[in-house]
Amino acid sequence: MRNKICLLLAVCALFPTAAIHAQQSLDALIERDLSTLVATYKTLHASPELSHYEEKTASFLATQLKALGYTVTERVGKYENPQWTAYGVVAVMKNGPGPTVLLRTELDALPVEEKTGLPYASKVKMKNDAGQEVSVMHACGHDVHITSMIGTAKLLMELKNQWSGTLVLLGQPAEEVIDGARSILRDGLYERFPKPDFVIALHDSADLEAGKVGYTPGYSMASSTSVDVKIRGLGGHGARPESSKDPVVVAAQFVVALQTIVSRENSPLDPAVITVGSIHGGTKHNIIPEEVDLQLTVRAYKEEVRKRVLASIERIARGTALAAGIPEDRAPIVKFSETQVTKATYNDPQLTERLAVVFAKALGQDNVVKLPPVMMSEDFGYLSMDQTIPATLFTLGAVDPLKVKQSQETKTPLPSLHSAIFAPVPEPTLRTGVKAMTSVVLDLLKK
Ligand SMILES: [Zn+2]
Ligand SMILES: [Zn+2]
Repeated sequence: MRNKICLLLAVCALFPTAAIHAQQSLDALIERDLSTLVATYKTLHASPELSHYEEKTASFLATQLKALGYTVTERVGKYENPQWTAYGVVAVMKNGPGPTVLLRTELDALPVEEKTGLPYASKVKMKNDAGQEVSVMHACGHDVHITSMIGTAKLLMELKNQWSGTLVLLGQPAEEVIDGARSILRDGLYERFPKPDFVIALHDSADLEAGKVGYTPGYSMASSTSVDVKIRGLGGHGARPESSKDPVVVAAQFVVALQTIVSRENSPLDPAVITVGSIHGGTKHNIIPEEVDLQLTVRAYKEEVRKRVLASIERIARGTALAAGIPEDRAPIVKFSETQVTKATYNDPQLTERLAVVFAKALGQDNVVKLPPVMMSEDFGYLSMDQTIPATLFTLGAVDPLKVKQSQETKTPLPSLHSAIFAPVPEPTLRTGVKAMTSVVLDLLKK
């Protein structure tokens, strides 16, 4: 079979219908590898690891890429916390003159107890950063991404005569806790290894049919900043409010006042979200507590919007407290996390439109959809170095088309990413992931 394919490739090079033949041969190569890829996926799915602890996953990926002939460096990355080892994998294949393309996959899984009931469901438990034992699941589909990278790496190695340039494959740890991409850059990703001209990643989708891909030019995901606010009052007896300053009431006013930032201070054309995800204060019915703690997440696309929203949160917290008569020295403490923060994902429009054309050729126009941006976040944006390197993250459909249809008809939402019952359909998802990724590299590095 393999000899036949090689012969076909050689013949294609000689005739004008080469493009069609090349597509057919790519399909044949993917079909040849598909059962192995599905097995790889199931193995990865059954053995997920939490962010900061992706040791076996990284080693598995490194071993596979080494076996394919890539030059592989392991344990790339440096966290701010020196106690954590970064399990980044960087594989390089230099194949003549031309641009450098970097493909990225994440390696980590989530603290979710899998409830899919699949034969290859995860039963893994492991300790998290806080030392607690938790169940772990690839509930975001990073196992799909790793497997697609392995499949792509193999094809591009075999099709070396069809491209010229340098391919860099990055296995990035700790995406879910958004400090992985920064750790890799801090450890000199773009100094120690060839600096890319293009950065590409895919992410599976819990809404899009398997067999399809999606693309979003421009901002596609938001920046995310975690904010901690401590409203301090003066505690006392619940029956004597006159001799205390109640932080519960101030916190309640603060939460309501926050709603005016997006609605009254921000341009309606610049999306932003402020969510108070946690509020805690007090111990008992009849005690006015000393303080109330709130945890917020802030999402925005533009950096100036993010900065303005954060400044408004600080101003409103302080203003609300002072208006309630809380003394200056008990003003709220507002902290913007330096670790739980990530940049927006901006898909270089020109590169993204180029990919859309490649996808249409490879998968058929009906299988390529332009998707609207979302306010969720990921740390892929760091790899573009403030948009100085064209980067794009495209969407890979992972859901049984029948289920998508049923969900639309019955208006019942499908299980989302991070859900305990999120279950990508392996075969069509991987087939499309490998084909899309391989076709992109063949186009960006075409001879
Ligand atoms: Zn995720
Ligand atoms: Zn993810």
